[in-house]
Amino acid sequence: SPESTSEPTVFTRIVNREIPATIVHETANVLAFEDIAPKAPVHLLVVPKTQEYTDVVQLAAGDPALLAEMIDVANQLANDPALMGAYPLGQFRLIFNTGEAAGQTVFHVHAHVMAGKLQEGSLA
Ligand code: 5GP
Repeated sequence: SPESTSEPTVFTRIVNREIPATIVHETANVLAFEDIAPKAPVHLLVVPKTQEYTDVVQLAAGDPALLAEMIDVANQLANDPALMGAYPLGQFRLIFNTGEAAGQTVFHVHAHVMAGKLQEGSLA
């Protein structure tokens, strides 16, 4: 599988606790943590623990239930007052950058979960 032949991605290293992150939620298959360089007042990342899928198109084709689980986790985060502060609960931006030209830099599928005003000129 790609997982066994590829180097660990930065997100796999976070999943494995090899590098630190502020983890906010974990399920059997999914991890959520704060983006290290937030582009909005609330900016979290939701990743599958497997790095088998590089982007959301691959994930949707290969494991749609895992994509649905990521979206469910995103919604749970967006309903947590401890994470959302004063921003309306359950209302959030969900961004999947797909491809280098679209701004994707980590080729381990991840959802950006954002609330509050984005920084000027940035979509994640
Ligand atoms: P992309 O540009 O691929 O859609 O998003 C990658 C995101 O991962 C960026 O927003 C970037 O700030 C975040 N990121 C990259 N490296 C790390 C890291 O080591 N820790 C955390 N928490 N976020 C990271």
